[in-house]
Amino acid sequence: MSASTEPLALDAADAAASTTDGTTTDGTTTDGTTTDGTVTDAASTVARLNAAFATGRTRPVAWRKAQLRALRRLLVEQEAVFAAALWADLGKNATEAHTTEIGFTLNEIDHTLRHLDRWLRPRRVPVPLSLQPARARTVREPLGTVLIISPWNYPLQLALSPLVGALAAGNTAVVKPSELAPATSAALAEWLPRALDPRAVAVVEGGVPETTALLEQRFDHVFYTGNGTVGRIVMAAAARHLTPVTLELGGKSPAVVEPGTDLAAAARRIAWGKFMNAGQTCVAPDYVLAVGDTAPALERHLTEAIRAMYGADPAASPDYGRIVNERHFDRLSALLGDGRLVTGGDRDRATRYLAPTVLADVEPDAPVMREEIFGPVLPIVRVPDLDAAIAFITARDKPLALYAFTASARSKARLTAQTSSGALNFGVPNAHLAVPGLPFGGVGESGTGGYHGRHSLDTFSHTKAVLDKPLRADTLRLAYPPFTARKSGLLRRFL
Ligand code: NAD
Repeated sequence: MSASTEPLALDAADAAASTTDGTTTDGTTTDGTTTDGTVTDAASTVARLNAAFATGRTRPVAWRKAQLRALRRLLVEQEAVFAAALWADLGKNATEAHTTEIGFTLNEIDHTLRHLDRWLRPRRVPVPLSLQPARARTVREPLGTVLIISPWNYPLQLALSPLVGALAAGNTAVVKPSELAPATSAALAEWLPRALDPRAVAVVEGGVPETTALLEQRFDHVFYTGNGTVGRIVMAAAARHLTPVTLELGGKSPAVVEPGTDLAAAARRIAWGKFMNAGQTCVAPDYVLAVGDTAPALERHLTEAIRAMYGADPAASPDYGRIVNERHFDRLSALLGDGRLVTGGDRDRATRYLAPTVLADVEPDAPVMREEIFGPVLPIVRVPDLDAAIAFITARDKPLALYAFTASARSKARLTAQTSSGALNFGVPNAHLAVPGLPFGGVGESGTGGYHGRHSLDTFSHTKAVLDKPLRADTLRLAYPPFTARKSGLLRRFL
């Protein structure tokens, strides 16, 4: 069934069905166990999407493009609704909401629409002489029904940009937004089924019980973004069904600063990457490794950069976000005692305001260096030289991103060859996400698998091997038993 023969718009019956099936009921427990009702809901949602996939409605390229265009239209027409939700959840400024969430997703859609035909084209593969005549190619096929579990920090982008890949690859999808960004979650639950094919896309709202119930179902792929503890739960649940997973996790992403680089410019870039979204960015520079004698100047330049971006009182800046909830506010407040306070430190629990904060002379084993900070606290750790910086990085979990500010080509080459991380950026943090041709993902503790652009298609498709060999002439006769001495000699020569 193609998009051209079936209207994609939601009729009243569809709307009712998708609301009933696509959202969870009350009566769930809060301790991680699931009530029968929740499991039944999850099972019926997945069954409904599986049935839609089986009809073949999601396979035509026309359907996929229609979904992407409909998503595009939704984001453009309802930008104010989503921006208001992001403001309510995270105090996210409308410009930042556009650049890092709504506009970001629009770019991902446009890039995908521009290249989808080419990405979906079967690829010819050479056939060895011993098997000729024959033709070999690879074709991409959709996986089926996929589950997308997203976190609260970029609650729109991290739900929708995987969805772009899932739909472009021809799958049906369940989107489970984070319950910790309730306004965005509600907006997605309200608008996605209206804009997209409700038979193919469901939004399930909720927290641990609802996600647990979903994870009991058999999906064809689970795409999870969040912390590594839950990542382990997701992977274990998926393993029961042999379901492949993508885990987009976090960790401590270092920013190495070498002498000889423009320290004022480096400080501005680091402050920008660190304090956007009040530091609640998975790829934000977590800490600075100040090489040699760079620390004192960096402290000064970081202080100036923060002031230039957010003013003397960042609490009054409309451009500075808030901590998502009190639990995270308390966790971050407890980290403020480490090292020497350079700037910031002000906080207000009632409004969950935590000033952009820089800590200097931080010991490598201080509490702030033992966990991902995920907030607006930037420790500076001094290291004598690049050898020490590389040793520091490689002694710890592989980061999601490694940033380096250096004028030395040799240092760049050494960091590239001698460290491992999801991404390696010179001169700019965070920006690799906005290059659609680059895969986005971690390695080791920072995650497994990647996406964005063509890489999303890789993630959400199976690349099927297709070999086509005519029955005549029967060039395989040589390989059939019985194996005479002559056949055996020829086989050894040709294979
Ligand atoms: P979160 O608390 O919103 O959790 C993420 C998702 O997991 C939510 O949808 C939530 O409902 C679900 N969940 C929570 N507990 C669960 C459980 N016991 N069983 C099943 N599902 C459960 O977000 P978070 O984990 O606090 O997000 C922050 C972390 O995510 C940080 O470590 C950050 O670095 C990482 N992150 C990574 C990326 C990336 O793209 N690599 C992006 C954003 C955040």
